[in-house]
Formats: sequence, C-alpha cells, structure tokens
Amino acid sequence: MKMKFSVDTLGCKINQSESDFIIEELLEKGLEPVSWSKHPDFCIINTCTVTSRSDRKARQIIRKIKSQNKNSKIIVTGCFVVFNKKFLQDCDIDLIVENKDKNKIPDLIGRMTAAAGRKELEKEREIESFDFKSFPQFSQMHSRPLVKIQDGCEQNCTYCIVPKVRGKYKSVPYREILNKIIDLQKDGFEEVVLTGIHIGKYGVDFSTSGMGKGSKISSLADLLEEVVGETSIKRIRISSIEVNEIDSRLLDILKRNNRRFASHLHIPLQSGSDRILKLMGRPYTAQYYFRKIGMISGSFPDIALTTDVMAGFPGENEEDFDRTVNMIERIAFSKIHVFKFSKRMHTPAYGMGNQVGEEIKSERSKILRNMGDRLRNSYIKNHIGKLLSVVCEEMNVENNIISGTSENYIKVYFSMDKENFPSLKGRILRIAANSEYKNGLWGILS
Ligand code: SF4
Repeated sequence: MKMKFSVDTLGCKINQSESDFIIEELLEKGLEPVSWSKHPDFCIINTCTVTSRSDRKARQIIRKIKSQNKNSKIIVTGCFVVFNKKFLQDCDIDLIVENKDKNKIPDLIGRMTAAAGRKELEKEREIESFDFKSFPQFSQMHSRPLVKIQDGCEQNCTYCIVPKVRGKYKSVPYREILNKIIDLQKDGFEEVVLTGIHIGKYGVDFSTSGMGKGSKISSLADLLEEVVGETSIKRIRISSIEVNEIDSRLLDILKRNNRRFASHLHIPLQSGSDRILKLMGRPYTAQYYFRKIGMISGSFPDIALTTDVMAGFPGENEEDFDRTVNMIERIAFSKIHVFKFSKRMHTPAYGMGNQVGEEIKSERSKILRNMGDRLRNSYIKNHIGKLLSVVCEEMNVENNIISGTSENYIKVYFSMDKENFPSLKGRILRIAANSEYKNGLWGILS
C-alpha cells in the first residue's frame, strides 16, 4: 500500500511554491497526497510568521493536526520554526525543518520511511546544514505555475521579520529558471509567475556566492531578457517588485515585449507619508513613488497596479494617514492589500514609541479596505465590453463554469463543456467580458 502524506501551507507565494516542490517530489517517490484528516503517514506543515496572526494560525493548525494524527509523523517547516522551537518541542513534533533545509524534506521522508521507530527519528531531528548548490523553486500544482527565482531579503524594513527568517539574498541560477520554464511550456502551461521574497534583487548575490561567477546575468532585467529570448512561454507575470527597483531598462524590456508580460505590477506602497516611510526603513519617498507610478502608467496606460499598505505603524498620526489615503486615491490602484500593523518581536518596530491604539488601527484599516473595494469595483466595471486574455484555472463541474485570471489580474468566469476543461487548464483563452459576476467579470469565449 502507498504511503500517504499531507501538506498544509500558510503564508506567501514562496511558501506555496516550496510546498509544491515537496508535493511534486513526494509524488515522484510514489507517495499519495491526502488531507491531514485522513491520517496520513506524514503530515507536513509549512508555516508563516509574518504577523502575530500568522503565528496564531500556525500554532492552531500544528496543535490540531498533531492531536488528530497520533500515529503520523509530524513535520513542521517554514518561517514560524525560527523563533518557536520551544513551542514545537513542547508539542513533540517529530521533525523541525528550517527554511534552508526545506528542500531536503522529500529525501528525509524517504529516509524516515526506512527508519525504524522513534530512536531513528531522534537522529533525524538534527539535520546537518546542507551546502545548497541550488534550491527548490518550481510548481506544477497551479494553472499559473509559480517559478521561484530568488529567496531572502536584506532590506530590513523595521516592521518585517522576513530578513531574520529567510536570510540573505539567494538567486536561482538563470539556466535552471529557463529550463524549468521550458519544461512548463512543454507541459502546456501558458503563464508563469516569477516569484521571490525580493525579486528586484535578483542576481546581486552572484558576485559573492560564486554561483553565477562569469554569468552574463546579474539583474532581474538581465533575467527577463533571457526568459523572453530563450523561452516561448506566452505570458510572464512578475509577482511583486519594490518601486525603487523598477528602472528605465526594466520598463524598456516590458515595453518591447508587452505581449509577453502580464499587464500587471504589484508595487508595495506601505505609506503615503515620508515620515512614516522613513521610520519603516523604506528606501523611497512618497513623491518618488508617485513619479515612478506616473512613468509606468505613461508607458502602459492599461496596466493593473496593485499594492500593499499598512495602517497604524508606530507614530502614524492623522496627517500621515491622510497622506496615505490621498496617495491611494490619486493613483487609483486596481487592488490593495491592507495590513494592520502588528508588533513582531525581533523587529525594531516592536520597541518603537508612539504605538497606535488598536481601535484607531482597526478604524484606519477599515477605511483603507473600503477604499480598496471601491477602487477594485470600478476597475472591474471599466473592463466590461473588453477582450481579456484569461488563463483557465478552475472548473465548477456542477454548473460548467470555468474561472481564470486575466492579464490585468481580474477574475473572469465563462461557461464551457466540462469535457474540454482538462485540456484547457493553464491555457490562455480570449474572453469578451460582458457583465460583472461575483468578484470579477462574466464573459464569453471570443
Ligand atoms: S523588502 Fe522589507 S517588507 Fe519586503 S521582505 Fe524585505 S524587509 Fe520585509
């Protein structure tokens, strides 16, 4: 009988792509994926720690899975493990795996299946440090596969725990990225999402790591040129990029190849107040951000611009908050992710004075969320009557409705015989949008 495993993932796209890698490898080893409720032999929990809420969620899911799977081996990995070893040991977790060792989980499971009894497992707890030549990056689990190109961050924004749990910049050698995209395109995928913790820093570590020594590739722009030139993947999406890392060369590449790049950029704003941006350790001013957005919109009038903003950073007063509101209104983002500031231990903002009260933080988050909903609705409405290129992602078999994502990040729904769906998953279709539907648009095949 096949051994079974479950993988539960919290947090960001990077975690998702790393979990996908684990799943793919375990499938190749002949294990069967199931839900944790089916009592698999191995339960893998890939955690996040970016906010206190993420920590809470991680604790809850770990306790729940552990208590209901007494005979399973429980493996916990991801950012939560860095500062929560004591909790995990108290929970009697079988294996605790740090991010840098995450891609060894499939091999470890292979060894664990051979290991007899608890004693052997004790040894497995002490995973030695691996000398990684490269690390896992790819996903076949999605209709728009995530291709991990980079890990780590050294920017040290004062509210962010990520640099402490993900470490220094580590870029994936470009050849591996190209080969993977070519494989995905052979498998019939038509869009890939280039993802990383700080992808604008792609390649900066090559000169120091030796991994890219002699390589002609040393920046994200170089990589994008190669992806466009060396693969024929129809659509490339950049997951998230810092405003100061979008330079004229990058814009020129996007412009010259505008049919190959999704018409969408996610550029975190965080605050519209220079004073708060400085306290956050963000390397730009509100004016700089605004001007850069002007440059981008000038070159790509229809581009979808999405962002992250934070409400209630320490010291944020009414005036600072108004500046954020004004900035959002002037730019008219097509989607906003709103984060309420939450204190993270081990970050400079944890100990900052002038913490904003919970009530005010909630009130400001609500205002920003309402603005985000209003702008999103009007952005979606503006696309009624337009032709959109939509990646087919999911099918609701009860009503034969396919849903997917357009080049400018709108959820689009249309009707299709379910027999056709398997061959369409991951493919791009032209859909004429004709009305609003659920959280996006309804359309017909054009
Ligand atoms: S750029 Fe700032 S917010 Fe983003 S991961 Fe790095 S430290 Fe965190």
